[in-house]
Amino acid sequence: MRSKVLLIYTGGTIGMMQDAKTGQLKPFDFKHLTEQIPELNKFDVSLSAVSFSKPIDSSDMSPEIWVEIAETIQKNYDKHDGFVILHGSDTMSFTASALSFMLENLSKPVILTGSQLPIGTIRTDGKENLITAIEIAATKEKGKPVVSEVCIYFEYQLYRGNRTHKYNAEHFQAFQSPNYPILAEAGVHLKYNQSALQKSSSKKLKVQTKLSTDIAILKMYPGITENVVNAILNTKDLKGLIIETFGAGNATTQNWFVAALKYRIDKGLVVLNVTQCNAGKVEQGKYATSASFNKIGVVGGADITTEAAVAKLMYVLGTATNKKDITKLLKSDLRGEMTV
Ligand code: ASP
Repeated sequence: MRSKVLLIYTGGTIGMMQDAKTGQLKPFDFKHLTEQIPELNKFDVSLSAVSFSKPIDSSDMSPEIWVEIAETIQKNYDKHDGFVILHGSDTMSFTASALSFMLENLSKPVILTGSQLPIGTIRTDGKENLITAIEIAATKEKGKPVVSEVCIYFEYQLYRGNRTHKYNAEHFQAFQSPNYPILAEAGVHLKYNQSALQKSSSKKLKVQTKLSTDIAILKMYPGITENVVNAILNTKDLKGLIIETFGAGNATTQNWFVAALKYRIDKGLVVLNVTQCNAGKVEQGKYATSASFNKIGVVGGADITTEAAVAKLMYVLGTATNKKDITKLLKSDLRGEMTV
């Protein structure tokens, strides 16, 4: 039986063309993209495709579009063995993280890919990325998909999507997964890291489309003023705040800062502590500069990325209503996004 793979085209550099007048790169239609890859017809995979009517640069990505993507997967779930989402690399880690939370009980691969150079350019990285992503989405062993989670495939490596971070705007290898091993490597053979792969779910797929955007990120820096902190803390309707702290979860110990956070937490605000470092984790209480966070009820985010923290906070605030449940979910590893 040939595997059935659904391609979902959202936009991104992979399908872009240069505007003749301005020289700027702009998203182009799906037909243009597939015309550049005659190899797609040679695949021993039954390929079908859906394209968003208006392909976008992923910097215009939004939770509304995440819902559209998740619902497209839900509608087509039973008819396909795997899914490949073509997406700009700029916000790919956010989308992969959001989909990982929205698609509960996944038992099929959802692979996001894109490229740093448009498919129409001679040195494009898009062809290999797309072709191997399709191959991964189609791979089965004993009739079952090998991968059953939301991943990013880019430049010969398969990553758990909610562990990634775009760290390079120049190199073809644009992504890193600093706190979790690579799931597969494409060389002459496609080598899967079986022990790192998420276990497939035997339950029915459940799609959660309620996401709350009443969140903010407060990035710490030496010299941050009370005005700046209060402006963020007093944001209308704010329900969840990510504080991006130094090192192992540390921040200034100035009284006004701790008191302002405590005041908002006591009034119901959920605060998640994520490190600014690329690798390693938050350990509240390791240093005196994070000890007060435990006392006032800041939730430690362990080794979660900021991208996954944004998606998780939106998901958790959309799913749970009381603070106890919200905090419990934030502290739990829901989709392999953090090490607890
Ligand atoms: N700006 C582009 C986007 O994210 C970059 C890319 O696709 O790599 O849509």
